[in-house]
Amino acid sequence: MELTNEIRQISRVLQTPFLVMDLKYVEKNYYDLVRNIKDVRVFYAVKANSHPRIISLLRDLGSSFDVASRGEIEKLLSLDVPAEKLSFGNTIKKVEDIAYAHSVGIEYFAVDSEMEVEKIAAHAPGSKVYGRIATSGADSDWPLSRKFGTDVEHVISILEYASRLGLDAYGVSFHVGSQNYSVKNWETAIQDASKVFKALRAKGVNLRMLNLGGGIPVKHVREIPSIEEIAACINASIEKYLGFVPNLEVFIEPGRSMVGDAGIMVTSVILKSKKGNEDWLYIDAGVFHGLTETIENFRYEVITDVEDNNLKTFHLAGPSCDSVDTIYDDIKLPRSISYGDILYFLNAGAYTTEYGTHFNGIEPPRIYFVDELVEFTEKRVKKEEL
Ligand SMILES: *Cc1c(COP(=O)(O)O)cnc(C)c1O
Repeated sequence: MELTNEIRQISRVLQTPFLVMDLKYVEKNYYDLVRNIKDVRVFYAVKANSHPRIISLLRDLGSSFDVASRGEIEKLLSLDVPAEKLSFGNTIKKVEDIAYAHSVGIEYFAVDSEMEVEKIAAHAPGSKVYGRIATSGADSDWPLSRKFGTDVEHVISILEYASRLGLDAYGVSFHVGSQNYSVKNWETAIQDASKVFKALRAKGVNLRMLNLGGGIPVKHVREIPSIEEIAACINASIEKYLGFVPNLEVFIEPGRSMVGDAGIMVTSVILKSKKGNEDWLYIDAGVFHGLTETIENFRYEVITDVEDNNLKTFHLAGPSCDSVDTIYDDIKLPRSISYGDILYFLNAGAYTTEYGTHFNGIEPPRIYFVDELVEFTEKRVKKEEL
């Protein structure tokens, strides 16, 4: 989202760190998906950012939701999202949570192992289950496949087992890896999914649903494919590889791409130091306080208000007493940057505040929405007038 003058002004007044968000981008991202991917049903992956205003907006737009835990389910139900709109997409669930999900009316459950099938058959009998195939995770910043999903043959046998245990073997899911740069990866995964559909059809089990998972990227420092390009590939691949499935239902579970570009993380410099020939800069957010994805060197575009074209390479670290709390070892910033200067991390609406901890007694970043900032600014003006 755009770093406006309004945001720059308010950043000098409000206590940092905070994430400032604009819901208009979330709305656009939702419509971009439903307009471009044919007959898709959107399940927002709540873990990317579960702020009630985001959930409520998506609920009103007609979205469904991918949830991973009892906590997320309770939160969504409390925000008047009906249970029919939830899918329990975590492949690792406690039986109490499966029973709870079933008792409130959740129908869809993800599986990638025999034991998970047995747990669901026992505690959510008759439910719709979908098997998750692993992908290579190639060309994504956060591969989500080694821990999750399994090979095509295994998914076939798991879903067959589910059907034998009285569950509704419903479909196939995958995740190409979060922040995925290669359109081709969706095609490969859909081709793999079609193998599962075909093999089970031959055994008399008719799957009806394809779950495309997440993975759509957000613009940071590297070029990304557009939603139109990704959607065109998905639409063509479904036609080509799954055209034989009557009334195929298509789910998608965007997390990052729904909220990533709807937020800017605003932080302040709290220390600058020179140690030997290393220049260090410390800010009031770090890997325990919102900038967690940088532990894998996830690169944000970082902007400052400091007007100095003379750049220098810094080590950039967070405020806590843990050396893991180092953000980047090679960031170029104005040489004269100093205490109190602001650093903006652009397009940081996903997987930031959601990871915020209270480690070391340091508060995680708050979230403000731009409409609230307008209010703050107006109040401030009034105060000055008095
Ligand atoms: C995290 C997650 C998503 C969202 O992935 P993004 O890359 O953020 O879009 C989707 N589905 C599942 C099962 C997930 O765990």
